[in-house]
Amino acid sequence: MNSSLTTPAIVLRRADWRDYDRMVTLFTPEHGRIDAVVRGCRKPKSPLLNAAEPFCAGEYQLLRVKDRVTVTQARITNGFFELRSDYDRLLHGAFWLKLLSEVVVEDEPNEALFRMTLDALAYLTHSELPAPLLTAMFEMQLWRLTGFSPNVLECVVCRTPSDKTALRFDAQKGGCVCAFCAPGAHSLSEAARRILMKAPRTPYSAVEKLAPREEWPEAACRIREFTLARVGNIKNLPELQAL
Ligand SMILES: [Zn+2]
Repeated sequence: MNSSLTTPAIVLRRADWRDYDRMVTLFTPEHGRIDAVVRGCRKPKSPLLNAAEPFCAGEYQLLRVKDRVTVTQARITNGFFELRSDYDRLLHGAFWLKLLSEVVVEDEPNEALFRMTLDALAYLTHSELPAPLLTAMFEMQLWRLTGFSPNVLECVVCRTPSDKTALRFDAQKGGCVCAFCAPGAHSLSEAARRILMKAPRTPYSAVEKLAPREEWPEAACRIREFTLARVGNIKNLPELQAL
């Protein structure tokens, strides 16, 4: 059955298809991931050329015929085009889109994650905040908004709370552990634990007030380990500079 739909969307990835077409993976707030064809967008002067670029956000008009979805029109609201002129920041953004391609699934609405992504991309494109710090924020928020945040309140094995023991961090086990349950795990400073606890709920506009910059690198390392433990099968991840 044919059906049409107009929805906000962000392009997560694209691939050339046939002579003039592209396949795109769209992230939509109400329908999750949608794979769609953009016909003729590689022809010169195609009005859909920019709408098939990764990072592009806008209103997309889609037509579903049987199993195939086609983009029929698009109105770009934010292309984040300036991001392409800063290679380091672009790599960070590419990492975010890769993570989203892994965690966003078909027919699963997640409006909060959609809004957070637009916010994060705006800060990556237009703010002076270091890209590695924004990436650490993005990872923490991504896991909160998909329900997979690491547990940093207690030992995930024996449930001893943080005020009763010095907690360590074990990405594979899903968060904090006590020295008794995982003697080989990374130590975790209280400052880093606080960032891991608060940053997932902190708006980007307040990230500078959350903790001094020197307290971030440890938290950024731990959340990256956690991310890689969750999406270990992900291929061709960009090499990012550390915080
Ligand atoms: Zn324990």
